[in-house]
Amino acid sequence: MKLNIAGIQNDSIVDGPGIRYAIFVQGCPHHCEGCHNPETWEFGTGRDVTLDEIIEKIKQDPLLDGVTYSGGEPFTQAKALCELTDRIRAEFPKLTVMSYTGFTLEQLLERGNAENCFTELLKRLDYLVDGPFILAQKSYELKFKGSANQRFLDVQRTLKEGKPVLYQDDWDNIEIKLV
Ligand code: SF4
Repeated sequence: MKLNIAGIQNDSIVDGPGIRYAIFVQGCPHHCEGCHNPETWEFGTGRDVTLDEIIEKIKQDPLLDGVTYSGGEPFTQAKALCELTDRIRAEFPKLTVMSYTGFTLEQLLERGNAENCFTELLKRLDYLVDGPFILAQKSYELKFKGSANQRFLDVQRTLKEGKPVLYQDDWDNIEIKLV
């Protein structure tokens, strides 16, 4: 199976917690005003990569804490990302997997079906940053998010508790003692 991607960022520290392998998929239906990556909007115009190629790259980087799907809109290629996530879980069990999306969590749950695999991908994730980028709510103070409407969700707790549960970044709570 293949993914059509706009690009890859190795060792990213801005696309989620820790050091991450960030995959930017090609194609986005949301067209948010002020989007940083408008070149990722058009579908099918990126580079095709096989899941084998991606797995091989991840294998070569022992420093990684996780893998992030960004874009573009990752859920438009949810089927391939489900398969990729299964392979990451099997081969690199210590890595976390998260995704950005311009859909809200509620939209993904409402619209998910067997064809688009929205729910299937959601079920496989550790974290989700949801919602469109809203220029009027843009802030540089937000960690791993572009605008204040977006939520950094703990997906497994969200699905278990049946309500949106925000991810608590442990690193925010580490006390640094000066000696
Ligand atoms: S969802 Fe992301 S990639 Fe798509 S238009 Fe909005 S900001 Fe850009």
